[in-house]
Amino acid sequence: MTEALFRDDAYLRKAQARVLIADARGIALDRTVFYPQGGGQPGDQGALILDGGEEIPIINTIYDADRRTILHAPAEGSALPAAGAEVVARIDWDRRYRRMRAHTALHLLSVALPYPVTGGSVGEAEGRLDFDCEAVLDKAAVERRLNELIALDAPVTQRWITDEELAANPALIKTMSVKPPTGTGRVRLIAIESMDLQPCGGTHVARTGEIGRASVTQIEKKGRINRRVRIALVPS
Ligand SMILES: [Zn+2]
Repeated sequence: MTEALFRDDAYLRKAQARVLIADARGIALDRTVFYPQGGGQPGDQGALILDGGEEIPIINTIYDADRRTILHAPAEGSALPAAGAEVVARIDWDRRYRRMRAHTALHLLSVALPYPVTGGSVGEAEGRLDFDCEAVLDKAAVERRLNELIALDAPVTQRWITDEELAANPALIKTMSVKPPTGTGRVRLIAIESMDLQPCGGTHVARTGEIGRASVTQIEKKGRINRRVRIALVPS
């Protein structure tokens, strides 16, 4: 089992860890700052730094089948560390931070467009949500609203509730197709002060102002009652 350090502090760029297993499936550590692919967010990239200073490039991060162990996928041809070895796990922070900003922007997009969400994903510095929505959406108006919400610079915080509490409050779930991760007995709720509360396992910025400007790049009609809205971070 891997302790998921990014859950309590998404701003951790590196951490000391011990190798549990290293084989063809990947390198498992006892703790990590690497976010494993899931919930529409890609797995982190970065490097594991060995005692002697050698670096093993990590090209992706995934959950093992038990959903409790996190596997770091080394670049092809990398030498594997020995079980028990001490390493420093370091993520590609610039890339992760853009994902944190884009991901948090998607939460605000679901506030700007209060329709049921049927899917979504986060890319490099962009993301999309699919809405169950029949209305004609005005790109410029959605973008204006989204940036107004970002500019409120609201704090983003988390708290944990039990699976039972979540089952008793189904209205908390905005996303119909991406089920929140349950089964471990507790679920993490992400709150954007006075705006949004939903279960989410992803990584977020601490205040909405960190997102910076966002643009709505495309609104696509994916059927009579489905609208796909794409956003992108505007480089500053
Ligand atoms: Zn989230």
